[in-house]
Amino acid sequence: MSLTFCPKVCYISYMIRICLIFFFLIHFLGVSQQAEYVNFKTAKVDILSIDTASKDIEGHVIYEFEILKDIDSIFLDANNFQSIKYILDGGYSDSLYNGKQLIVKHPFKSNTIHKLDVVYKTTPTKAMYFIDWDNDFVTSSDSDSDQNCIEKLQIWTQGQGKYTSNWLPSIDDMNDKIEFDLSITFDKNYEVVANGNLTNKQINDSTVTWHYDMQKPMSSYLVALAIGKYDKKVTYSKRGVPLEMYYYPEDSLKFEPTYRYTKQVFDFLEEEIGVPYPWQNYKMVPVKDFLYAGMENTSLNIYSDAFVVDSIAFVDKNFVNINAHELAHQWFGDLVTETSGTHHWLQEGFATYYALLAERDIFGEDYYYWRLYEYTQELLEQDRVGQSTSLLDPKSSSTTFYKKGAWFLHLLREKVGDEAFKTAVKNYLLKHQFKNVETNDFISEVEKTSDKDLSAFVERWLIKKEFMYDETIESLKKSTFIQEYLMVDCEVKTSKCETYLASWISDEAKSKVVLQNSELITSKSFKNPLKVRQAIAQSLTEIPSELKEDYESLLSDKSYITIEIALFNLWRNFPGERRRYLDKTKNIQGFNDKNVRTLWLTLALITEDYEPEMKKVYFDELTNYTSSKYGFEVRQNAIQYLNQIKACNDDCKTNLKQATTHHNWRFSKFAKALLESQ
Ligand SMILES: [Zn+2]
Repeated sequence: MSLTFCPKVCYISYMIRICLIFFFLIHFLGVSQQAEYVNFKTAKVDILSIDTASKDIEGHVIYEFEILKDIDSIFLDANNFQSIKYILDGGYSDSLYNGKQLIVKHPFKSNTIHKLDVVYKTTPTKAMYFIDWDNDFVTSSDSDSDQNCIEKLQIWTQGQGKYTSNWLPSIDDMNDKIEFDLSITFDKNYEVVANGNLTNKQINDSTVTWHYDMQKPMSSYLVALAIGKYDKKVTYSKRGVPLEMYYYPEDSLKFEPTYRYTKQVFDFLEEEIGVPYPWQNYKMVPVKDFLYAGMENTSLNIYSDAFVVDSIAFVDKNFVNINAHELAHQWFGDLVTETSGTHHWLQEGFATYYALLAERDIFGEDYYYWRLYEYTQELLEQDRVGQSTSLLDPKSSSTTFYKKGAWFLHLLREKVGDEAFKTAVKNYLLKHQFKNVETNDFISEVEKTSDKDLSAFVERWLIKKEFMYDETIESLKKSTFIQEYLMVDCEVKTSKCETYLASWISDEAKSKVVLQNSELITSKSFKNPLKVRQAIAQSLTEIPSELKEDYESLLSDKSYITIEIALFNLWRNFPGERRRYLDKTKNIQGFNDKNVRTLWLTLALITEDYEPEMKKVYFDELTNYTSSKYGFEVRQNAIQYLNQIKACNDDCKTNLKQATTHHNWRFSKFAKALLESQ
C-alpha cells in the first residue's frame, strides 16, 4: 500500500499549516499450521445483503479444499460474527464457533476434496467501512445550499492490517492463496466493484447482483470491494488489458489530470518487469476518507480521493506515484506474496523502486535521482535519531521498508548490471508465481544470473541496521544534476551565490539557494520557473517593499501551494492591501482538502473591514467544513483554523468530538490531541 499523504511537496505556510506525513506499519506474524494440512482452492462468495442502516451483512460462501495430510478439524477465521453455520459436503452440519474461528470437526483424510458451505451474518466494525450513511443530510429532503457539499455514500474494504475475516469467513494467513469469486447484491443505483472480471449484472427489482470472477488465487488480505456512485472510462494497455478508471460523476473535469500517464505507467511496468500483468484487468477507484493513499487489492487499486486532482493541483500533488506503486504490487505482493513480515520489504521495497522507475520513464533521469536523494535524506534522519532498522526486521519503520528497500534494489542493480538484475526478477516471479516468497528466493536468483556472491552486500544492506549513507551518495554522484545540487551551497553567502539565481543551474539547486538564504532574492529571481518561485514564496516571509509587486505576482501562479503561502504572507506583511489580496483569491478552492479556501475564509473573517455583511456567511461556511459531509482532510483544515482564531462554536465542537471516533486513525488522533490541549 502507499502511506504517504503529502508526496514530494508538503504544504507549508508558517505557523498555520502543518504538513502531516503519516506512516503506518503493517506486519504480519506467524504462519499457521493449517496450510500444511489443507489447501483451500476456491471460494464462491455471495454477499446476499448489505443493510446500510444497521451495517449488517448476510453472506454465503462455498469453499472447495483439498486435504494434504490427515487432520481431525479445520478452521476459517471469522471475527466477531453474529451467526455462522456450515454444511460439510452437503450433509454434516454444525456451528462450532468461538467468536474468532469457525471450527469444522471431521476426520479428514489426505488426498480428499471437500466442499464447505457457510452462511453467516455479521456487523463488521473494521475492514469494511460505511461512509456517510449515518449522516442526517443523507435523508433530509431540504437540499443543501452548499454547492460544494461532497457527501459520498460509499462502502469500501481494507484487508491489509485489518483482516478480511471481519466481513468474510476466510483465512487470514497470507500463505493460503484462494481463487475468490465475489457476487454482491446491492441497491441498483450504485456501482459495485470487486476483484477480477465483471461477468454478469443480474437485475432484480430494486437491486442488482454483480458477479465478479477471478481466475487465479490470492491471499485474503487482497480481497476487496468498493460501492459508490461512479462513472468510468476504460482504456486498454498495449497488450490489451482493460484499465478501468472510476471517478465521481461531478469530477469529470478532473478525470484527465487524475489519470494522466496511466497507460504509459502500465505499459512501462509490464515491459520493465518482463512478466505479463498477472490478472484480467486493472481497476482504479477513488474513495472518501480512505485509511492510506492507496491499496493494491488484486486487480483493484482503491485509493484516497485526495489524489483526484485538476491540472493546477497536478503540479504539486498527483496520482502518478501512488498508481505506479499499487500497480507494481500487482506483481510484487499480489503475484508473489511474503511468507511473513520478515520479508515485507519484498513487497514495499519493490513497489517503491518500480514506481520510481515508472516515474523516471515519465519525468526523466534527474527526477529519479532527486527522489532517491530525498529518500537518502529521510533515511539519514532516521539514522541520526538512532532509529535505523534492519530490512529483515518485521517491526521496521515504513521508511526502512519503502525507502531503504528501494535503495537496496537500486544499488543491487548497479552492482550486477541491468541484464542480470532483470533476468533474476523475471525468474523469481515466474518460479514463485501465485505462491509465497522469502528474501532468499530473490537473492538466490540474482546470484545465479550474476554469478556473484552477494552475501557481504546482503549483510550490509538487508541485515545490518545502519544506513550506508556514503554508498548512496557515491551512487548519487553518477548524476551531474545531483553533483550540481550538492555543490551549490549558500548557507554562507559567497560572490558566486549572487549569480546562481540567474544562471542555468537546476530548479532544485536554485530552490536550495533561495531556501538557504532569502537575502539573495531580487526582482530578477522571480523570473524563474514555478518551483523556484514556490521556494521564494516559502523563503521570503518578511517581504521587502521593493519586492512587493513581484511577490504579489505569486498569487497568479498555477500552484495551490504557492497561492496559499503567498496569500498568507502578503496578508501578514501588507495590512493596507488585505482587501485586494482577498478579492483576488476569492474563488480559489485549492486541493481537495480546500487548502486555499479554508485559509481564505479564515483571513476574510479576521480582516476587520472586509465585507462585514458577509461575515456570518463565511463563518457558517468554514464551520460547515468541520462536518462529516466533508472528507477528513477538509475537516481537519477547518477545525485547525477555527481553533486558531478561537471561533470553534458548538457545532464545530460537536464535529470535533465526533472526529475522535472517526475510522481514520490519523484524523481521530488529531482530534483527540486537540481536545486534550484545550
Ligand atoms: Zn505498498
